[in-house]
Amino acid sequence: MLIDYHTHNYLCKHADGTLEEYVQHAIKIGLNEIGLADHTPMPDNWDLPVRMTEIQFWNDYAPVVFALQEKYKDQITIKFGLEGDFLPGTEQWVKEFNAKSDFDYIIGSVHYLDTWGFDDPHFVANYDVKDVNEIYTDYYDHIKGSAECGLFDIVGHCDLVKKFGHRPSKNMEEILRETFKVVKASGMAVEINTSGLRKPVKEMYPSEHILGILSEYAIPLTLGSDAHTPTDVGRDFDIAKGYVEKYGRGKISVFTKRERSEVNI
Ligand SMILES: [Zn+2]
Ligand SMILES: [Zn+2]
Repeated sequence: MLIDYHTHNYLCKHADGTLEEYVQHAIKIGLNEIGLADHTPMPDNWDLPVRMTEIQFWNDYAPVVFALQEKYKDQITIKFGLEGDFLPGTEQWVKEFNAKSDFDYIIGSVHYLDTWGFDDPHFVANYDVKDVNEIYTDYYDHIKGSAECGLFDIVGHCDLVKKFGHRPSKNMEEILRETFKVVKASGMAVEINTSGLRKPVKEMYPSEHILGILSEYAIPLTLGSDAHTPTDVGRDFDIAKGYVEKYGRGKISVFTKRERSEVNI
């Protein structure tokens, strides 16, 4: 059973292709399930250049997902997902927004440290202004917060802070263990996200070191390409499957109406 739970589309303004083109590529490469999980709307037009508006969600996202589910029901299972943002201060808005739809799952991602979109190539120079050790500490503090807040089902790209190749000089072991203990307690799954292989860091999210910790804590895994173009659906899943065998006992989590279950890969 093979799934891709992390895909985007033109609505977020930094991805190509319609929702249907992502579904069609998933069918072409033989996936059993595709999850459509575009960047969520946020309150007060937060970082609108990289996400859909709430109006677009209601007019151009949700109804299109439902129509595609019906149109392709004999060929593939399509899950209604969303990539949420953990941004301290917005929790109540996010909780209310998420409750308005019958999502299959919501990925919880950290893309911001305070107002800094640290994974946005436009703002990469900030890594040179700040202390990289502090950036990493702050980042994992946010990951912990995203698990504690109870708003999300899957931890998205859980070491995204390495995207451009900046590495801490201090040993992060204690912080990582503390963070993933909180993730374990939350009951969330962690995604193996292959998009890091296509970024300057040239490494999967998470690293094999973190996968070892996840395995030790028996934290469930899911799979996502983070495709921002239809042909990236399922990209590098041969490598990801090997990690699922090695660090996840060959099992991945699937979600229906925000209930998790496990299947063999
Ligand atoms: Zn994106
Ligand atoms: Zn993301």
